[in-house]
Amino acid sequence: MKSLFLSSSLFLTLSCSVNPVVPPLEKSGFTIPTSHSELTAYLSAVDAKSDLITVKPLTQSVEGRNLYSVFFSKGTFGADPDKIKVLFFAQQHGNEQSGKEGALLLINELQKPENQELFDKIDLVLIPQMNPDGSEANKRRNGHDMDLNRNHLILTEPETNALHQLFDEWLFEASLDVHEYSPYGGEWEVYGYRRNFDEQMGSTTNPNVSEKIRSFSNTEALPFLKKYITEKNYSFNIYSPGGPPEKDLIRYSTFDINDGRQSLGIQNTFSFIQEGLNGEDNFKDNLKRRSEGQMTGMLGLLKFIFDNKDDIKAMVKTEREKLVLGEVGSKVAIQMDHFSDGNPFNMTLLSYSTGKDTVVTVKDFRPVVKSTYDVIRPKGYLIPKKLTELTYWVKRHNLDFAEYKPEAADQIEQYAITAIDTLNFEGDKTVNPATETEIVTGKINPDEYLFIPVNQLKNNLIVIALEPKSTLGLVTYAQFAHLLKKGEAFPVKRVIQY
Ligand SMILES: [Zn+2]
Repeated sequence: MKSLFLSSSLFLTLSCSVNPVVPPLEKSGFTIPTSHSELTAYLSAVDAKSDLITVKPLTQSVEGRNLYSVFFSKGTFGADPDKIKVLFFAQQHGNEQSGKEGALLLINELQKPENQELFDKIDLVLIPQMNPDGSEANKRRNGHDMDLNRNHLILTEPETNALHQLFDEWLFEASLDVHEYSPYGGEWEVYGYRRNFDEQMGSTTNPNVSEKIRSFSNTEALPFLKKYITEKNYSFNIYSPGGPPEKDLIRYSTFDINDGRQSLGIQNTFSFIQEGLNGEDNFKDNLKRRSEGQMTGMLGLLKFIFDNKDDIKAMVKTEREKLVLGEVGSKVAIQMDHFSDGNPFNMTLLSYSTGKDTVVTVKDFRPVVKSTYDVIRPKGYLIPKKLTELTYWVKRHNLDFAEYKPEAADQIEQYAITAIDTLNFEGDKTVNPATETEIVTGKINPDEYLFIPVNQLKNNLIVIALEPKSTLGLVTYAQFAHLLKKGEAFPVKRVIQY
């Protein structure tokens, strides 16, 4: 008996080292999304078996479930400065199951011999599930009923906060945020057509992001991804929300910096979003194709990053150095809008009546984002220490700050809020105060303020967050709206240097 036991356990060990752990979705015959406990067991088994992979808990969700980060490296993660550090994360929206499933399939795909060369150049962290609480209930939001993908500027939620702590620790040079889109619904049915692309991918659109990175993303990365994904027999579209055409503007996404893609992009990261086609029953319809399509998009971006590693690394380094140098006195766009480039856009949509793909011409296509209101970048900002909602925000973002030591050339400005108006922001109303700039002539007590210099990586983010007229700023969130008071000075002051 003893020898039989030994030989059978040896057999098991050998067969396991050859065969990867089967992802839970595959075990179910691609019929049931992976539960949090199955995901935990799967990652634990993968971690035990693979030399390439180390799984670490990232944080706990609002309801106490673990989020996991899966580190891939042929050596010690982050130790080789020649490698590029890449961050992929999925399922911020809990009812977008295929992002998580695609990420879990990717873990197996990346262990195949033909993909090993990727890790000669890449150190990857993959977070397959950002929102386990939402996933278990198949709902969009987290356990606080917050939309995580609108939380990346204020970082009030444990899930998004942990993602940014991880980002700040490693300063990944490239990133991907994986979602699903749902093209079904009343307005589209009335219009008669809907989107039917397996995968949509897009890059950063905020005009403050490095022009070089945006241009390289649009002219090199997206065409490569389109070719790669369509060659694998999935249909592809450049991420372009909005519509139906002529009823709602079709554009290349928002320019807000509160989502997974742009909050990293604003730090001059080579940053992307991917959206797979949701099912009409988003939980279980068509799970195999949805998940494999998502996996294919992720693998495609890894291959592009592999092929262009040196260019991307050099570009990100140069463009981040500019942020750290400060660029004091240059302009920062804090209000912006979507504009036409004069060309109509031909979009392939599925016809409800014929059930076939049909080319529809979008006359009012708005692919260009331009600034409509700039401010001059100051040397830094003064935040009153007593406003702990702001000082905690500074800490959540790991911003460099210092005691304020006035220099002779410093001039301090503040904004008097003369009225609180609104303006249109992508179809919604957002707050837009009328301000008058005042020079602070009296002495201020430096002990009462934190000084936030702009010469750091989050340079653009700081300006966009702290200017009261910024349509992407902190005051547009309920948690910070009270900072605007008509007839009073805005509490955050600007330090200008002459
Ligand atoms: Zn989403």
